[in-house]
Amino acid sequence: MEDRLFRNAMGKFATGVTVITTNVNGSIHGMTANAFMSVSLDPKLVVISIGEKASMLKHIQQSGTFTVNFLSAQQQELSMLFAGQIKENRHVTFGDLQGAPTIEGAIAQVSCEVASTYMEGDHTLFIGRVKNIHLEDGEPLLFFNGRYGALSAETTLQV
Ligand code: FAD
Ligand code: NAD
Repeated sequence: MEDRLFRNAMGKFATGVTVITTNVNGSIHGMTANAFMSVSLDPKLVVISIGEKASMLKHIQQSGTFTVNFLSAQQQELSMLFAGQIKENRHVTFGDLQGAPTIEGAIAQVSCEVASTYMEGDHTLFIGRVKNIHLEDGEPLLFFNGRYGALSAETTLQV
C-alpha cells in the first residue's frame, strides 16, 4: 500500500493538536503531535506516539516525563513552530505546572510520568500516568485532511 493512501485515510480522522513538552536537565523541548488518546480513568492514563526520527523520543526516554498541551484555535503558529514548519529560531516562554513545562494559553495542560513504553513499527508509544492538570477557556485548534481548522458556529453541535 502507498504511504500517501494511508496518510490520506488517517487524515480523515479529525483531531485536536497538541504540543508535547519535556524538560531534560533544565532544557525544554517541544514537539507538535496529534497522536494522543485518553486511555484509563482509574488509574488516570494517556498515550502519545512518537516517531523514531523525532528528537523528542530520546528527550522523553531521558526525562521520564512529558506534558500534553492541547492548543487553542489561536495557536496554529506554535503548532507550526514545534512541527518544524516554521524554520526560524523563535524564543518561547514556557509556563510551569508544579515543575512540568507547559505551553501558556493551551486549553488543557496535562503533565505525566512515563508509566510504560511500547515500540510499535516506526513509533514508540508512551503511556503517561497523569500527575497534574490545568484547564483554560477557549476553542481548540483542529487538524483534518492535512490542514488546520477551527470549530465554527455553523459546525458546532448544539446539545
Ligand atoms: P525538532 O525538529 O528539533 O523540533 C521541532 C521544532 O520545535 C523545531 O523547529 C524547533 O526549533 C522547535 N522547538 C523545540 N523546542 C523549542 C524551544 N524550547 N523553543 C523554541 N522552539 C523549540 N510526529 C510524531 O512523532 N507524532 C505525532 O503524533 C505527530 N503529530 C503531528 C501532528 C501535526 C498536526 C503535525 C504538523 C506534525 C506532527 N508530527 C508528529 C510531526 C512532528 O511534529 C515533527 O516531525 C517534528 O519536527 C519532530 O520534532 P523533533 O522532536 O524531531 O524536534
Ligand atoms: P499528513 O497527510 O502527513 O497527515 C495526515 C495523517 O496521517 C496524520 O494526522 C496522521 O494520522 C497520519 N500520519 C502522517 N504521517 C505519519 C507518520 N509518519 N506516522 C504515522 N502516522 C502518520 O499531513 P501533513 O500536513 O503532511 O503532516 C505534516 C508532517 O507531520 C508530515 O511530515 C507528517 O508525516 C507529520 N505527521 C506525523 C504524525 C505521526 O508521526 N504520528 C502525525 C501527523 C503528522
